[in-house]
Amino acid sequence: MNPNTPCPCSQHTYSINTLTRSYADCCQPLHQSFQTGQQFATTAEQLMRSRYSAFVLQNIDYIVATTLPSQQPLLDKSAIKTWAKQTDWAGLEIVHHNPKIGKRHAQVEFKAYFTTAEGLQCHHELSTFVKIKVKSGDKIAEGKALEKWFFVDPTVNLSISQKQPCICGSGEKFKRCCGQFL
Ligand SMILES: [Zn+2]
Ligand SMILES: [Zn+2]
Repeated sequence: MNPNTPCPCSQHTYSINTLTRSYADCCQPLHQSFQTGQQFATTAEQLMRSRYSAFVLQNIDYIVATTLPSQQPLLDKSAIKTWAKQTDWAGLEIVHHNPKIGKRHAQVEFKAYFTTAEGLQCHHELSTFVKIKVKSGDKIAEGKALEKWFFVDPTVNLSISQKQPCICGSGEKFKRCCGQFL
């Protein structure tokens, strides 16, 4: 994708409250450096936007890398790829960003638009994100704890009881942590 063209997440044909930014000034740095940790989403909304752009650009590795680490092995990459490829994306609208709920969670309500033979369709979702400490593989994390936002995927089969330690690794019981939002 040409970095000077508008970022997929700021195509605002159907939205009233976003600014158009180029891909280079928006999601590209996040897509390029998520693994190295040089730059990463500082808010759940930014992560949500960059995930939408990754769907548009069929960057499945980014979709996987920004999902909760314990859920990553359970994702069906080829199914995600097929879905991203077949979808005719038409824009993103952030309806509401709740940057902090509880100790480490945030929620983003959004509408992702796409077109089918029947016309414009909308996928309306309330997504949950959790901020967790990461260590390995991040240069920036050397010597200090780094916190990153991750998407908590409610569709991944979570064979976990409410009293078990949470899937995000916070050390709290599932029902008192991510479980409350799924
Ligand atoms: Zn963007
Ligand atoms: Zn949790």
